[in-house]
Amino acid sequence: MADKRDYYEVLGVAKGASEDEIKKAYRKVAKKYHPDLNPGDAAAEAKFKEAGEAYEVLSDAGKRQRYDQFGHAGVDPNFGAGAAGGGYGNPFGGVDFDIGDIFSSFFGGGGGRQQNPNGPRRGSDIETRVVIDFMEAAKGCKQQVTVPTVESCPDCGGSGAAKGTSPKTCPQCSGRGRVVRQQQTPFGVMQTEAACPQCRGAGKIIETPCRSCGGSGQTRRSQTVGINIPAGIDDGQVITVRGKGNAGKNGGPAGDLRIGVFVRPHPFFERDDYDIIVDVPITFAQAALGGEVEIPTIHGTETYRLKEGTQTGETIRLRDKGLPVVNRRNMYGDEIVRFVVEIPTHLSSAQKKKIRELDADLSDKNHGTGRSFRDKIKKAFK
Ligand SMILES: [Zn+2]
Ligand SMILES: [Zn+2]
Repeated sequence: MADKRDYYEVLGVAKGASEDEIKKAYRKVAKKYHPDLNPGDAAAEAKFKEAGEAYEVLSDAGKRQRYDQFGHAGVDPNFGAGAAGGGYGNPFGGVDFDIGDIFSSFFGGGGGRQQNPNGPRRGSDIETRVVIDFMEAAKGCKQQVTVPTVESCPDCGGSGAAKGTSPKTCPQCSGRGRVVRQQQTPFGVMQTEAACPQCRGAGKIIETPCRSCGGSGQTRRSQTVGINIPAGIDDGQVITVRGKGNAGKNGGPAGDLRIGVFVRPHPFFERDDYDIIVDVPITFAQAALGGEVEIPTIHGTETYRLKEGTQTGETIRLRDKGLPVVNRRNMYGDEIVRFVVEIPTHLSSAQKKKIRELDADLSDKNHGTGRSFRDKIKKAFK
């Protein structure tokens, strides 16, 4: 941790980058180095954490200003010391993102509140993740996740008491779970409140505990849940399945099952929101003469009539050939095709001769018209 890299450099953005640019850049880097996509790659994990650190500072106006002014010393030197602990279990702590986005509060846990021990309590959420391929994300897919889940004990219905019996309200605390003690001290009578010693704070007493759950009212079980991943889902989004989390207590509802979706990058389709960007190679002859080319899209191959004299870097937009918009029927992004002219290599001497002849012919035609590059250079340096 000797030399920290510049945070702007880490995210690959300019110093004056907008909030939006920073967020976009962070997502790109985080996706590239995410530990789920690079299992066992320590270098990637380090880059992933570094990006998280850079983002935490640059996404916060105050911290960013201090960083701009004082560099790394301007932001909390202990930053990230505790938050990044435990592998990558909680790499996004405190980072705020869109709703439904994995980067929001996905790995955050609920705080422990003091409540009436007998009141209904909602079960906690279960968080897990799936990694899918680009085409699975484009077309939608079915996945299964298997997660350990706390469920209400089926034998006692969650009461913890053996069949035919029921828990009794604790006589010492009358069900409150806490007792007040008065103590005589040299300064007067002091009142302290503590968990009830008889029921240990539960507010009730189980005389004959259920055999299956030992009186806790809950059992642990491996749960397999099938999920429909909608077409068009983006890397880092979260699917919530209501009521499939851990069981609640005292009649409270179950928590939710939250599944973070990670999408493996595609070898040649690149995603930009719902658009797809793809480089399509064309031959020198196709570029010069035009003709039909086959263009891959996520919906199949499209035939396109290339115009004569297509240059490298020219783009076309294929309407509605991009990704489906999640949960919108018949709405799609576009595909943006960028043509790249492939220059032939490993030419035979006969082929080279032909190209030289062609080149001489082309130079003759353009000579003196001011259109050849050589003419333009001559003009520029006159
Ligand atoms: Zn039970
Ligand atoms: Zn009690």
